Amino acid sequence: MMRTHYCGQLNETLADQEVTLCGWVHRRRDHGGVIFLDIRDREGLAQVVFDPDREETFALADRVRSEYVVKVRGKVRLRPAGAVNPNMASGAIEVLGYELEVLNQAETPPFPLDEYSDVGEETRLRYRFIDLRRPEMAAKLKLRSRITSSIRRYLDDNGFLDVETPILTRATPEGARDYLVPSRTHPGSFFALPQSPQLFKQLLMVSGFDRYYQIAKCFRDEDLRADRQPEFTQIDIETSFLDEQDIMGLTEGMIRGLFKEVLDVELGDFPHMSFEEAMRRYGSDKPDLRNPLELVDVADQLTEVDFKVFSGPASDPKGRVAALRVPGGAAMPRKQIDDYTKFVGIYGAKGLAYIKVNERAKGVEGLQSPIVKFIPEANLEIILDRVGAVDGDIVFFGADKAKIVSEALGALRIRLGHDLELLTCEWAPLWVVDFPMFEENDDGSLSALHHPFTAPKCTPEELQANPGAALSRAYDMVLNGTELGGGSIRIHRKEMQQTVFDILGISAEEQQEKFGFLLDALKYGAPPHGGLAFGLDRLVMLVTGAQSIREVIAFPKTQSAACVMTQAPGAVDAKALRELNIRLREQPKVE
Ligand code: ASP
Repeated sequence: MMRTHYCGQLNETLADQEVTLCGWVHRRRDHGGVIFLDIRDREGLAQVVFDPDREETFALADRVRSEYVVKVRGKVRLRPAGAVNPNMASGAIEVLGYELEVLNQAETPPFPLDEYSDVGEETRLRYRFIDLRRPEMAAKLKLRSRITSSIRRYLDDNGFLDVETPILTRATPEGARDYLVPSRTHPGSFFALPQSPQLFKQLLMVSGFDRYYQIAKCFRDEDLRADRQPEFTQIDIETSFLDEQDIMGLTEGMIRGLFKEVLDVELGDFPHMSFEEAMRRYGSDKPDLRNPLELVDVADQLTEVDFKVFSGPASDPKGRVAALRVPGGAAMPRKQIDDYTKFVGIYGAKGLAYIKVNERAKGVEGLQSPIVKFIPEANLEIILDRVGAVDGDIVFFGADKAKIVSEALGALRIRLGHDLELLTCEWAPLWVVDFPMFEENDDGSLSALHHPFTAPKCTPEELQANPGAALSRAYDMVLNGTELGGGSIRIHRKEMQQTVFDILGISAEEQQEKFGFLLDALKYGAPPHGGLAFGLDRLVMLVTGAQSIREVIAFPKTQSAACVMTQAPGAVDAKALRELNIRLREQPKVE
């Protein structure tokens, strides 16, 4: 081994000892005849001082430049009181350099690493191998590794087996487009990369493995949505003979243990909330419970009003009219309300009605609003009482299709929480349960809300009779408004699985063709089973406080699903395409 210590590990207890460090030159300073080199490795920085009395070493120290790779032998000594650097782990000491060896030179890096600098993300990703040298990036990857090892330890201790599942496989429907890989040996046929190991982990239960986990790569070719990666990592879990309470309990214990271990945070017991309640009160199936604002339904007071914008949705069974009270919001300037109106427009809302409550005692006189003239005073009073409005508040209204109102006011709620700094605590976990089995598409057909292997809370006959009303045995773990993980108890009987496929409009032939192996497995002794998967990248992002999942992935893709460093995806030569039996269509000519 070349080194005796990592730079970041040096401290006072090593005073007067000789050490050998290996790392990169982070910074070089020339202080009137003495040269300081800050040497960096993955554990941190150490300051090495070179005196002119060791002539050769001094001359070399004078020649090294940023990012040279060096080996230094020297003696640890305490820094004089005034020179202690509290921002450096090894800031109480420095190393007096005896020997310096340049292991490799470096060209001037494309961006400086020595202090916070505003480098574009594209450049950082192009030179990711340099970007990852930055101490804050190293810290995130180290924490990620601690998180996965904590999780592995917990699952190992609880009797889970780590089993790998194939990457070259058939489509697993999780609601995204598949990445396809052409087969050379089966011309015209394609593998799909797994959107999740879902079916394989279920088959492992049929095989009797009981408790499975895998830190698994998943691939989803989704349209460009903020902060998604085409390949990402799941902590994938499946169990047999446990019900949803057991599974939630086990995995909640894992996350609680993790937070205690890496952040020293006690998350406590997670509350459970139904999907219906989450949508009604927060307009979201992943509510951020740090935020005290709530949506309140008021349609019943507005069915008769002489104002179509309200009375229409209020009388429509698929409509919703909800209010959102913001304490102290009456002081909000017009400009800010306009901004919020634009903001809810992103979610399809056509406007943002509001009432400023200046002085409730004065009745309508005390309210400032473009809409109060349309609402009879008695109804107005009931609405204001229901939302708990007091002087100084503003109450926003959403009226439209239920989906639009929930999404728009749900998003506004989050935005207001941040803008007005309303968050009441640092961490707010919960389980969302009792999801509907299906959601309705615009054309009236149904899609699985979770995935088609999720068990309903009813019999196949009841499901068949009224699929729209059926609830599933699915559960999501939510933290601070982010879905950390989700799963369900699965269907383990063939008849039920076929019923669900039927409802989804998958013909008997297609069921055989795509899922024949699953239907077979369900005939040969499938145990009751269920599980879930956590998004590791999201989890690490929350724990590290990173702003995007790209910050906690060593080599992420850009928003357009490309790698600017390796230039992937790339062209392939004609021979490779021929072997794969692929002929490219002519690219349409650019006019
Ligand atoms: N396969 C699911 C997903 O990727 C998770 C689960 O149901 O276990 O979302």
